[in-house]
Amino acid sequence: MSLDRRDFLTVSAAAALAAASGCRSLPASPRARVVVVGAGFGGAACAKYLRKWGPGLDVTLIEPNERFVSCPISNWVLGGLRSMDDITHGYGGLARHGIRLVRDGVVAIDPDTRTLRTAQGLQIGYERLVLAPGVEIQADSVRGFAQAEAAGRVVHAWKAGAQTALLRRQLEAMPDGGAFIIAIPAAPYRCPPGPYERACLVAHYFKESKPRSKIIVLDANPDIVSKKPLFTDAWSTLYPGMIDYRPNSPALVVDAASMTVSTDFEDVRGDVLNVVPRQRAGAVCNLVGARNDGNKAWCTVDFATFESTAAPGVHIIGDSVASTLPRSGHMATNQARVCAGAIVDLLADRAPDPAPVIANTCYSATSDRTAGHVAHVYRLVPGKGYVAAPEGGATEKGDAGNFRYAESWAKNIWAEVLS
Ligand code: FAD
Repeated sequence: MSLDRRDFLTVSAAAALAAASGCRSLPASPRARVVVVGAGFGGAACAKYLRKWGPGLDVTLIEPNERFVSCPISNWVLGGLRSMDDITHGYGGLARHGIRLVRDGVVAIDPDTRTLRTAQGLQIGYERLVLAPGVEIQADSVRGFAQAEAAGRVVHAWKAGAQTALLRRQLEAMPDGGAFIIAIPAAPYRCPPGPYERACLVAHYFKESKPRSKIIVLDANPDIVSKKPLFTDAWSTLYPGMIDYRPNSPALVVDAASMTVSTDFEDVRGDVLNVVPRQRAGAVCNLVGARNDGNKAWCTVDFATFESTAAPGVHIIGDSVASTLPRSGHMATNQARVCAGAIVDLLADRAPDPAPVIANTCYSATSDRTAGHVAHVYRLVPGKGYVAAPEGGATEKGDAGNFRYAESWAKNIWAEVLS
């Protein structure tokens, strides 16, 4: 089955409006097709800005999930601060931008004919393709994880959704005096501060509801990877004696029968096990050979356009990109805008901005009323990649103001991505 050309959207009234307001438009190729794969933070934002800045474009956004479930704030659900409903949103708001949303997954890409195929057999052609699939969880990086996960005994909850809800239920069912183990993979992984925020918010829940319980953090890294002063301050002042942090402790084996996580040195028993395996670029990137960094894990791109260095015409944004930039939702939306602007320019035979500026802000809650943040602005410097301006930085202690900002940040970015 191939897509009927009539299914694609025609130039909308927004085109005239955008042109009148001086926005980028697409005179050279008014019907060029751009397909975006993945409607997470990066993909949904990219599709939206492609239509805003290239209102003549046919933009198709392909996503298997019916609803958007946000990883940001998902740790708040685990801590009992928010519900799954609070982090689950519909895609309906994207329709007003004239994006064609296809509920499906991409299973094959032919870069020569610039055609892709979905799981349900739809064939879709494109002039430019954007891959924004997030991360693939490498279940086989921890022996026994796949079986334990399939049995519903051990989850990563590193993609928000059913596993988030299951982990919360496991924490609720855990007896007071039990042990919660969180195993952190070696960097790079999605959301560097996320595991430490999770430890804080589960500790908050235990402090209120199961005060004799403990948290054991098995970190594959030699030290706390992000916002160390914020988290160590929270652990010592808010949760003294509750969090047992063990660096250089990669989880090698998980055994759901004995509820044990094994490292090189010890077998650690817990009542609830949260094992986060290693990660790499989403599997769909491999269909075009784009996982091409030294470890064949992440995708190298031209940072001015986010075009893959391995697959011409294919752009990659968000967590899948090989870089030292943090893998965050905020960063994914910034990359989405650079990529969308560059595609609009390229399709109009204009040179894209050679030195784009992007930013990252990431809040982490440390309790039900305190949070801290990290914020940086980056400019692309040819030959050097994105270089952070020296003014950025991180808070060293959580406070109530940052907690309020964290909540507003989440509401703003959900609106930015989905409406
Ligand atoms: P995603 O948002 O994961 O979107 C990828 C989409 O692609 C998914 O919807 C998926 O279904 C789809 N997809 C995959 N393969 C295919 C295919 N073959 N065909 C079609 N669709 C496909 N970031 C922040 O900025 N702030 C935070 O506070 C924050 N907190 C976090 C807390 C936790 C616990 C975690 C795990 C992450 C957190 N993050 C946070 C990180 C943030 O969630 C990610 O960096 C962000 O989601 C990356 O965006 P993305 O578009 O690359 O991927």
